[in-house]
Amino acid sequence: MLEIANLSLLYGRHRALENISVGISEGETVVILGANGAGKSSLLKAIAGLVTPEAGSRVMLDGKSLIGLPAHDIPETGIALVPEGRGVFGDLTVEENLMLGANPRRARATEADRHALIYDLFPRLAERKRQMVRTMSGGEQQMVAIGRALMSNPKYLMLDEPSLGLAPIVVTELFAALKRVQQTGVALLLVEQNVSISLSISDRGYLMEAGRIVGADTAEALKTDTAVQQAFLGGS
Ligand code: ATP
Repeated sequence: MLEIANLSLLYGRHRALENISVGISEGETVVILGANGAGKSSLLKAIAGLVTPEAGSRVMLDGKSLIGLPAHDIPETGIALVPEGRGVFGDLTVEENLMLGANPRRARATEADRHALIYDLFPRLAERKRQMVRTMSGGEQQMVAIGRALMSNPKYLMLDEPSLGLAPIVVTELFAALKRVQQTGVALLLVEQNVSISLSISDRGYLMEAGRIVGADTAEALKTDTAVQQAFLGGS
């Protein structure tokens, strides 16, 4: 279980996160919903060790604290992040980008299986193994970013707005692949602005506003929640 408790984060004097408590069980899919600037990316960054939370914050994986662990050691614990904007290397090929994710010791024994899984999930990448990533479409680059994260053999995969800037048909394709990732037992922690598609693959969701959690419920309940409707789905 991944447990975040009383997590607070300051950027200088700006409080980006205040007392966040969120939990994700093994194999579960949880979405964090919130407007631009609510602090969703900061939360994922804090879990990934990319920013340092305030004293008293807790990030625990199966009872062990991750606070203070450098970002490059986080994949070794079984947590992988697909960052906003993807973070792929444009001047490297698909295959080279994927191999960058294969470094953790936990990934080595399963490297061949992982390769097969990723190319099975994303046949378009299999056809383009030696293509430079900068020449690929946004959707294909997102597939590379997800594939690279999966190469590390994660138990928890965090995705920061994977649908951003992609055509609806590509988003549908990506989420179909994420459903298959769920079926392999990987837990997903998703940050999304695309509320309906993210709730459709989630077990539970949290609502974030101005650095705080302001609501939490099952995905089923959130689909009809008036606050969610008003904030994100254009309802009244
Ligand atoms: P978005 O969807 O726009 O990325 P978000 O919900 O992910 O929004 P964050 O990116 O986590 O929000 O930002 C939360 C707040 O912290 C915002 O007010 C943002 O301007 C601020 N912030 C983010 N990164 C930094 C930084 N490196 N330095 C200072 N302030 C920052």
